[in-house]
Amino acid sequence: MHRIVLIGPPASGKGTQCRRLQNLLNLPTLGTGKLLRKEVELGTQLGLEVESYLSSGAYVPDALIMELVKNWMARHSESGWLLDGFPRTLAQAEALEVDVSFQAPTLAIALEVPQHELEQRIASRRECADCGATVSVGPSNEKNCKECGGLLESRADDDLENFRRRFANYSELTQPLFDYYAANGKLLTINGSGTSDEVFAVINNHFHPSG
Ligand code: ADP
Repeated sequence: MHRIVLIGPPASGKGTQCRRLQNLLNLPTLGTGKLLRKEVELGTQLGLEVESYLSSGAYVPDALIMELVKNWMARHSESGWLLDGFPRTLAQAEALEVDVSFQAPTLAIALEVPQHELEQRIASRRECADCGATVSVGPSNEKNCKECGGLLESRADDDLENFRRRFANYSELTQPLFDYYAANGKLLTINGSGTSDEVFAVINNHFHPSG
């Protein structure tokens, strides 16, 4: 059974690769950042609680995000799963391994992309309001999703200043997970610099080796 976590800096393509992996392996998927942004958009109690963290580029507190993931996992413990954006701290990673309310992952896929490339991606990144696809707009700054025609929107937290704070958090708090998962033999590091197709080809090859 597959239980996969995807880690990588902001704009490294976690969400995009996650969607493709979800289609490939047919696994229930939780994107913690997506879920939190939806709560903020809907103005729920949880949304109000996390809004200031998201808009300032900070991580939300471990206890809060762990409670959400725990509840989700309880409903998906039989099938295997795919997590995009969790764990993001050592405390979260350790909870997955040892806390009986969670399940340990079988594989951690880590995407590596240099910072200067991430900054270029942030400027052109849009999300479709209808189908949720993440796309990169060209110089014509197109307004509609190629897949479904829905309106493309910039994420509220995708300005350069906010990105740099998220990246600093990532380097300090999430990067150590590479060593953590390497030490327990679960790490698959992938060069995330290519196109979405190129990156996915490498991931796909891990599950369906060719030749
Ligand atoms: P990105 O990887 O581009 O920063 P995400 O959609 O994965 O985007 O996450 C957006 C925001 O949601 C993060 O900046 C953080 O505030 C919050 N978040 C998501 N997952 C976690 C987590 N596991 N722990 C703490 N904060 C989280």
